[in-house]
Amino acid sequence: MVGSAQRVVNDLRELAARTSNADGAQRLAWGPIWRDARAWLKGKVAEMGLEVVTDSAGNNWVTVPGASARTVIVGSHLDSVPNGGWLDGCLGVAAALEALRERAATPAPVTLKLVDWADEEGARFGRSLLGSSAAAGSLNLDDIRDLKDREGTRLVDALAENGVGIDTMLNAQRELKTIDARAYLELHIEQGPVLESMGKSTGVVLGTFGVERHMLRFTGQAAHSGSTPIPMRRDAFLAAAETALACREIGLRHSKPGAQVVCTVGVVNVEPKIVTAIPGVCEISLDQRALDADVLAAMLRDAREASERCANDNHVAVEWKRLWRIEPRPFNPPLIRLCEEAVHEETGDAPRLPSGPLHDAAEMVPHMPVVMMFAYSSHGLSHCKEEDTPRDHLERTIRAYLRLVEKTVAHVASLT
Ligand SMILES: [Zn+2]
Repeated sequence: MVGSAQRVVNDLRELAARTSNADGAQRLAWGPIWRDARAWLKGKVAEMGLEVVTDSAGNNWVTVPGASARTVIVGSHLDSVPNGGWLDGCLGVAAALEALRERAATPAPVTLKLVDWADEEGARFGRSLLGSSAAAGSLNLDDIRDLKDREGTRLVDALAENGVGIDTMLNAQRELKTIDARAYLELHIEQGPVLESMGKSTGVVLGTFGVERHMLRFTGQAAHSGSTPIPMRRDAFLAAAETALACREIGLRHSKPGAQVVCTVGVVNVEPKIVTAIPGVCEISLDQRALDADVLAAMLRDAREASERCANDNHVAVEWKRLWRIEPRPFNPPLIRLCEEAVHEETGDAPRLPSGPLHDAAEMVPHMPVVMMFAYSSHGLSHCKEEDTPRDHLERTIRAYLRLVEKTVAHVASLT
């Protein structure tokens, strides 16, 4: 039956004690504490008589061969943000390790591989999902060649220190293609408040949100705050503020039960930024996210219309500039069903939710069937030392994940 959730929690405590300080986890990618976390993993794997193999992008792989080369991949990432939590990323690696432990004793009909992706967080050099995007082939080397961290260390040098060459890291794509991958299963903490608000231990993840991210620049006319009557103003800030409020309504209007979407204005810049001047220029950021591509496109259309209406009403002009976008990455329906079964059997319910944050799993979607499972996050907090999942919720979720691995192994073995 399912393995020891208790042992997974003990492993996580052990890793946290080894790689955290009073401020939280310090497993910053490509640094000495991250390397120590990987040395810890290597030790655990050696206890099972297995070894860690590193691909060209620095991702670590462990293989338990089965009767068939068809492969189920399990894993997540060991790296953390500075002052991070004890579960983000390493929960998925520790649970995957337990899945391998069971199969190292009784080999499966199919091959099982653990992956520890390198630099998921992008906390040091600003490029998230570095290792998994290299393996997926979606990494553009020109985007990362000149990256430096806060101390001025170049990414290329940090990579080299860890045996990764920037010009050969895309070979990881070829290496991934040699695997007959039939499923990728990632367990992660939710990092949000949804499961907690429902009082549920575990969630079935439907996919990762698509993102549309823009800067909107409103241009009116700066003028004296005392001498200009309100109806005669061209106040760029008011147009931006009305747009921000309209975007909240757009987010609420497009949200349905089980299919929430979000719109966020996170940056506001005004000019000339003087208490006695009407703002002549105002820039705001707008970040919109949805799981359904058509809904995301409709949200973007609605926001453009709202910005033009608000600009008109305030006699200012508005210009849009795209910062970044990624399409939604819906997960695989048969694996979602297996995940629902596993979560339902273990917890008596199977709430479904999308993932707002991106994960390495999103990079695997174009290449193989993927599903993720989420664990309850206390107070919805993550990327901080307060990050936690209550013990009973955590163990239940780990058991559900180990069930999912078993179900997926049986499912992949039955494929013809
Ligand atoms: Zn993570």
